[in-house]
Amino acid sequence: MKLAVISDIHANLEALNAVLEHIDAQQVDRIICLGDILGYGPNPVECVDVIARRCEWSLMGNHDFGVVYEPTNFNLAAEQAAYWSREQFEIDSNKEDAARHWEFLSRLRVRVTFDDFLCVHGTPRRPINEYLFPEDALNSPVKMQQIFDLVDKYCLVGHTHVPGVFTDEPDFYPPDDLDGVYTLRDDEKAIINPGSVGQPRDLDPRASYVIIEDDAVRFFRLEYDIEAVVNKIRAIPELLDWLGERLYEGR
Ligand code: ZN
Repeated sequence: MKLAVISDIHANLEALNAVLEHIDAQQVDRIICLGDILGYGPNPVECVDVIARRCEWSLMGNHDFGVVYEPTNFNLAAEQAAYWSREQFEIDSNKEDAARHWEFLSRLRVRVTFDDFLCVHGTPRRPINEYLFPEDALNSPVKMQQIFDLVDKYCLVGHTHVPGVFTDEPDFYPPDDLDGVYTLRDDEKAIINPGSVGQPRDLDPRASYVIIEDDAVRFFRLEYDIEAVVNKIRAIPELLDWLGERLYEGR
């Protein structure tokens, strides 16, 4: 079984297509998405359409929640992007598609388990909103303990847009420290973040995702046409220009 895990698309269709093309070249059996299909980017409707068609399921991220229900704890730019995104579904020209997209979004789950994996967008404690940052492994032992107590074996999370593996020592390993591959072990709990497809925040602008096959978790980075996305964002007054410009820097 070969499983691709993607997360945090953020309405970036160019990045999503680049990742899916790479996935398709590798004979993957299943694709799952850890949430935040929406927010910040210029192609919310198209990205929901692609995710609904290509992924076995997706989780509800805080930005998806913000578009479907109410943006809470968002900065002004994110809030404005959420309202703009919602409008795009409302003006979806084909009524049948619009109903299908909205139905898909409103059915996103906050937590899914399969085999030895628990999947949430944020953390097992607060599945939609809590961030698990790399520095927490060093600075927040109680938080790490409480979170790992909720994980039987392995956990998949998104939300921070920073790829890597948390182990229950606790420690955090960025993909470079692992030479791009983490090996799942029976004697070690692990929380894996595949990084972000559409808005990486580890100072590497390339799209990020992982493939899990047997006990190997492989991290991938892919270039895509950032300029095309930035130009689309510039042309939409409701999306502030810096939401596009930061894509060049991966932050
Ligand atoms: Zn996100």
